[in-house]
Amino acid sequence: MSAPTSQTRDMMDGQGGLLLGPHRYMLIRPDALMGLFARLPLAERDAAFEAIAASVRENGAKSAASYAGMGLAEADRLIRTIMDTAPQLGWGKWSLTYDEKGLDLSLHNSPFVAGFGPSEHPVCAPVCGMLEAICTQIFGKSGSAVETACASQAVQGQSKKYQCQFRVNA
Ligand SMILES: [Zn+2]
Repeated sequence: MSAPTSQTRDMMDGQGGLLLGPHRYMLIRPDALMGLFARLPLAERDAAFEAIAASVRENGAKSAASYAGMGLAEADRLIRTIMDTAPQLGWGKWSLTYDEKGLDLSLHNSPFVAGFGPSEHPVCAPVCGMLEAICTQIFGKSGSAVETACASQAVQGQSKKYQCQFRVNA
């Protein structure tokens, strides 16, 4: 295990915390996080995915609110900041666009896929929660994000090029 990267070092507060702006973060292995879901029976796993999506929606909204203001006029700035920030936090590479009705996201190299592995169902519920927070900030009303395709469901051998796809309608 090597020393922290300079980026991580910049985030250290000297008190055992990592900060991005005013917000505290922590590093956790994706397999350790996603092992929580993998250990649950399917019915409970669905509930757990819904719960983490709701939690990210609520708490991620605080981060999004610190990136830009509310409304469509701020959408470009918010989306640019999200696409800059997501890979720095290890959330993969985001290609996020919006139209008058909602948001589309193509996500490359999702940490949730890396942590969960092959799956018969989508595994990137935290991303859905973040998209819902972004949707509310831009459109002023909540929407329900759907992961329409997840790289965890890709046929083995194709997964490197396969991206997760999401849509949320306001
Ligand atoms: Zn996914």
